[in-house]
Amino acid sequence: MIGNRGADGCNVVTIKEIAEMQALADEWLRGGSRIGCVPTMGALHEGHVSLVHRARELSERVVVSIFVNPIQFGPQEDYKSYPRPFERDLSLCEENGADAVFIPAPEEMYAVDFQTHVAVEELTTVLCGATRPGHFQGVTTVVAKLFNIMKPNVAVFGAKDYQQAVVIKRMVRDLNFDINIVVAPTVREPSGLAVSSRNNYLSEQEKVEAATLYQALCLGESMIQKGERTAEKIKKAMHHLFDAVPSSRIDYIEIVDADTLQPMETIHKAVLLALAVFIGPARLIDNKVVEI
Ligand code: AMP
Repeated sequence: MIGNRGADGCNVVTIKEIAEMQALADEWLRGGSRIGCVPTMGALHEGHVSLVHRARELSERVVVSIFVNPIQFGPQEDYKSYPRPFERDLSLCEENGADAVFIPAPEEMYAVDFQTHVAVEELTTVLCGATRPGHFQGVTTVVAKLFNIMKPNVAVFGAKDYQQAVVIKRMVRDLNFDINIVVAPTVREPSGLAVSSRNNYLSEQEKVEAATLYQALCLGESMIQKGERTAEKIKKAMHHLFDAVPSSRIDYIEIVDADTLQPMETIHKAVLLALAVFIGPARLIDNKVVEI
């Protein structure tokens, strides 16, 4: 355990070893505390901070995990370049009321002969699952491990990664984890751009252009609110907005059932508008649920 790191450092308890995290969680639980956890990959921002605050409201002890999970990245993706400002992250955790930060090395989480995975099947074949094969299996495997390590009563995830939250809820239900999954709203910049660690990859100009993701979601929402029910027409209009954004490359723009994530051609109930778009070097995702 690393704590009390002196005048310049911060005092939040920082744990690198699984056994030590489990022992601390046991101690908290024995003392009658509820544990709230916030799994993250670090490079913390206002979005993560909002989850820490939510966890704080729901539990006496809060643990944030910071782990850039190698098995959820594809071979061409940004695992190596993913930002890792760990000192700053620890300060943010402390300032925002976390009791502990679990920050394991990859070797601590994955033994060389590791061979067990958790896979949620249908829900991961669509949206990001269709274009990032293996991604969600990496996510559910690490989250299952983190649940067994941090032993939370409550785990808080962001609506920004809507599909991830749906997949984790299904894993928790199907495998009977005794954990309450709470989904907190997406934190946005004034421009509407969803705050994201990957926004670090954007130039100032690209940041301005990236607000088009949110504008496209708002356009889709207003078309539905005005009575449009044909998903194809709405998707076309959303696509069209990116014609004026030279740095953009659309991965997908989809309209799906907000519960099952299956494509919906004629809108007849609550839908999820979801998109993934490359802006320059960054693959950004965003979504909006629209009730009718
Ligand atoms: P990440 O570090 O990107 O894996 O994200 C860790 C958690 O923070 C996930 O539950 C995300 O959904 C959540 N999160 C990321 N960005 C935001 C945001 N802008 N608003 C709310 N939650 C977010």
